[in-house]
Amino acid sequence: MTQAYASDLALFINGSWRMGEGRDALAVLNPATGAAIAELPVASAADLEEALAAAQAGFAEWRMVDVDTRGAILRKAAELIRDRADRIATLLTTEQGKPVGEARGEVVGAAAMFDFYAEEAKRAYGRVLVRPTGQRAMVIKQPVGPVAVFTPWNFPVYLLAKKLAPALAAGCSVIAKPAEECPASTAALMRCLADAGVPANVAQLVYGVPDMISRTLIGSPVIRKVSFTGSTAVGKHLMRLAADGVKRITMELGGHAPVLVFDDVDLDKTLDMLVPQKFRNAGQVCVSPTRFYVHERIYDAFLEGFAARTARLKVGNGLEPGVQMGPLANPRRPEALTGLITDATAQGGRVLAGGEAYGEGFFFQPTLLADVPDTAAIMNTEPFGPVAVTRPFATLDEAIANANRVPFGLAAFAFTDSLRTANLVGDALEAGMVGINSFAISFADAPFGGIKESGFGSEGGPEGLESYLVTKAIHQA
Ligand code: NAD
Repeated sequence: MTQAYASDLALFINGSWRMGEGRDALAVLNPATGAAIAELPVASAADLEEALAAAQAGFAEWRMVDVDTRGAILRKAAELIRDRADRIATLLTTEQGKPVGEARGEVVGAAAMFDFYAEEAKRAYGRVLVRPTGQRAMVIKQPVGPVAVFTPWNFPVYLLAKKLAPALAAGCSVIAKPAEECPASTAALMRCLADAGVPANVAQLVYGVPDMISRTLIGSPVIRKVSFTGSTAVGKHLMRLAADGVKRITMELGGHAPVLVFDDVDLDKTLDMLVPQKFRNAGQVCVSPTRFYVHERIYDAFLEGFAARTARLKVGNGLEPGVQMGPLANPRRPEALTGLITDATAQGGRVLAGGEAYGEGFFFQPTLLADVPDTAAIMNTEPFGPVAVTRPFATLDEAIANANRVPFGLAAFAFTDSLRTANLVGDALEAGMVGINSFAISFADAPFGGIKESGFGSEGGPEGLESYLVTKAIHQA
């Protein structure tokens, strides 16, 4: 496995790849074995100053490049990403753990982001207000400026593309700090951009000590916008840093998605959809279904069917054929899950499948918990792992109240055969995205984002472009 990985991990600053050269280094781990597989150079204060100066100069040039040329470069980047998808997917699985088929799907999804925004940037329309006096007011959109983006380890390639594509399409320069766990796949994405013709100072990549990097970048007057995907706690911290410079922010934070299963569904068909979705990317998905509220008439049958399907899942090294779930991405996740499950069982929750960390690397059994009370930590903290938590409900109102009782509001799902129930829950669920009889809620052309403590600002669709634009009114006599 080690041979398949990268030996050239580097920062990408002002068009050059910066390797060790006396910098501190961080170990990159293979989650399937726990072994260190490479060393990642840590950005110094001088590296960040150089990146900021380059981003400022890059913005001045890139904003003047016409939108068709920017679009052509981004379309070329999409083509290169697709050409290199197998290699990028292997790197991603080696450093993150997910099955390589899922990794490939992620990479292809990243390419789709560049294709979409290559076109969408052409539609950053303004408007003209006509005054009877002959005066005109022009409302125009302009790129916000150099952007600092921070992305996590669960979908390292896709989530980076979700920020880079609209920012670059809008005419912004970007300094990206992806998660230190996944530097090879994110660098491979950056190479596609550079090879497609994105100028050297327009898209840059740094890794290192997250707190030092975010303080330096967000504290710099060069940076005009901050976009972050990650935990609510870190998001709140970055919002405070951005407040000092009154910077635009987009926050894609944690969720704790409820799933309401009504008693009019075809249960086998529904479970066949639910179980693979629960364990996709080992549950490390911000919109992962986590709190299953099931109508009391079908609750027992639901638990039985869910547990049986869970037991059949093939868990293993994501590079091996047929594996449906890999290890967790880092040693923090199995530790956190063990604590949450211990607490849930102490409060009366029953373990119907899995429940334990095992093996070398960061493996955790696909887990089903039943009858977990609201007071349990896992009902209030996003598990971010392969754990499904279930509770019965009796009425529609009770189900909706349960779904909405946490401070998060990213995704919510409902399964029903009744159009009336679908309409009612679609309106009532407090979430930025609602999936009804479907888990497909993330597309390049649709807004994706949370409400409540899950954040604000959308990525995807025209809304995603808008977040990298400022509005100016020019009044002309
Ligand atoms: P964490 O809170 O330490 O880190 C979350 C992400 O933020 C990581 O990518 C990390 O590199 C980055 N980060 C941390 N401190 C930072 C700082 N000061 N400045 C800039 N970036 C910083 O948690 P973790 O152990 O990596 O993940 C745990 C929790 O994070 C999960 O339980 C989940 O709730 C949440 N998470 C959410 C998403 C998402 O897609 N919304 C992704 C990954 C993690």
